[in-house]
Amino acid sequence: MHYKPYRDLLLELFPNYLKVRKMPLNGGFSCPNLDGTKSYSGCSYCNNRSFSPVFDQAKVQIQEQLDTFVPKLREKYPNAGILAYLQPYTNTHAPLERLHEIIDPIVKHKEVAGLAIGTRPDCLEDDKIAYLAGLNQKKPIIVEIGLQTANDLTLAAINRRHTLAEFEDAVKRCKAAGLTVTTHVIVGLPDENMNDFKHTAQVVHDLGLAAVKIHPLHIVAGTMMAQDFSSGEIKLLSFEEYCEAVAEMIKIIGPDIAIERFSGESPSEMLLAPNWCGEREKIIEQVEKILSQGDQA
Ligand code: SF4
Repeated sequence: MHYKPYRDLLLELFPNYLKVRKMPLNGGFSCPNLDGTKSYSGCSYCNNRSFSPVFDQAKVQIQEQLDTFVPKLREKYPNAGILAYLQPYTNTHAPLERLHEIIDPIVKHKEVAGLAIGTRPDCLEDDKIAYLAGLNQKKPIIVEIGLQTANDLTLAAINRRHTLAEFEDAVKRCKAAGLTVTTHVIVGLPDENMNDFKHTAQVVHDLGLAAVKIHPLHIVAGTMMAQDFSSGEIKLLSFEEYCEAVAEMIKIIGPDIAIERFSGESPSEMLLAPNWCGEREKIIEQVEKILSQGDQA
């Protein structure tokens, strides 16, 4: 294998378990890019329904979710470590007291081995980082900070409403506090090319993140991009172009940063294109093939 698999990172973080399973939870948070703090329209590719199986749990108390999901996971994986995952929206976008209400019971739960928290770089004030760092003394806390691309022009074009500098600053402050930091990036955003993909990979490498999720740009129903796509304004990468880009990025990211995934994860009923984006095995095979050819050159 030409990259560090995510399971290796999980084994480092959770040495008492041979297997670790993620358990998505919904903390009922909003997003500053949707609630008017930054904008009401959100990132142009975003439809949270498409990337979280617990989207419909927003109004369910966190204790109730734990009471429902922990036994289900335990039944299926009796010996696995359970990594709770606050997934939808921005899970540090609330006052510190609210974070305590949601996060404390998760970390205190005796069956939960650790917690991953999805968030944005502009929602990680120092007091929140200090709170998470305190929890990290008890159980591993993974902070997943979305980047998508290191190109500020693209970040503006897709309405992310934060800059690369803000991302770098948040990562550095989280890492300085001892937190495990991961990110996700999108390959094939409008007007980007291989130079942009490589630059994004270089930023991931240089920041020494613990892991990265790489996704192909995929068009999901109900997003701003879906409108641009249907009017022909967006050209998607082909399967081959995407795999080529991922292989180049992996070479730059290097062997110390885990690759959590590099296929898409949108439910098929919401996915408009490309039709191959969820074909995990096929994508892995092609990327491995390209990387192996590089070995022989
Ligand atoms: S992708 Fe994340 S940051 Fe962007 S609008 Fe959706 S929830 Fe908010």
